[in-house]
Amino acid sequence: MNKEEFVRAVKKIGLEITDDILNKLDIYCKFLMEYNKHTNLTAIRNEQEIYLKHFYDSLTICRVINLNEIESLMDIGTGAGFPGMVLKIFFPKLNVILVDSNNKKTRFLMELKEKLNVDKIEVINNRVENLLSRFINSIDVVTARAVTNLPVLTELATPFVKKDGYFIAMKGNAEEELANSKDAIDILGCKIESIDTFNLENDNGKRTLIKIKKVQETNIKDVRSYDKIIKKPLRK
Ligand code: SAM
Repeated sequence: MNKEEFVRAVKKIGLEITDDILNKLDIYCKFLMEYNKHTNLTAIRNEQEIYLKHFYDSLTICRVINLNEIESLMDIGTGAGFPGMVLKIFFPKLNVILVDSNNKKTRFLMELKEKLNVDKIEVINNRVENLLSRFINSIDVVTARAVTNLPVLTELATPFVKKDGYFIAMKGNAEEELANSKDAIDILGCKIESIDTFNLENDNGKRTLIKIKKVQETNIKDVRSYDKIIKKPLRK
């Protein structure tokens, strides 16, 4: 996807795109390609693929949520910033928290944050399950793209979401994972609000956006340890 195609596709999802945004994406793309030469951050290495499979793909989440209406977003397992950093660039007023346990990736993001000169963004190098006491029941929207299977991910992510807020999982083909997550979603005091499936532009594979609404607050005493989450998926 070249830049003209990117601009057209972004407008089609109803997003505004300014010269400042395009300039920031240009800085991001160049820095990612340069950094990737010495530190492995992503297998996607050329500009056109970065615009399609990282930048545009991150923005597809706007098909199911209006980020102008929310204040805080946490991106779990953000890697080199997808979708969280791209969303920050398009929605500068958002308070964004980017979490990843891989310190090469968070170091890249901290340097990128300086280059882009964006504020109201925190990059955290930690496993997300260690952040509970600080962020439980406090975030409007939690996102995760290509991070672990849905039953585990839902149990890791939803405790951070505020009552009436959302966890949005960005997946490829997710039918089987969805079937295996129904019990966990219910037990965690959540419900599926929508499942949006589509093909990425230029025939680049199936995508699924699973939008999960938090219906009840999480009680910290109900949160299970990571070991238990992995070993014994929630079942009714
Ligand atoms: N979201 C990015 C993307 O779509 O390009 C990165 C996806 S990558 C396949 C998964 C990332 O999740 C890795 O960077 C890994 O370090 C991170 N991760 C996995 N489990 C995690 C956890 N429990 N807490 C924080 N980060 C985690």
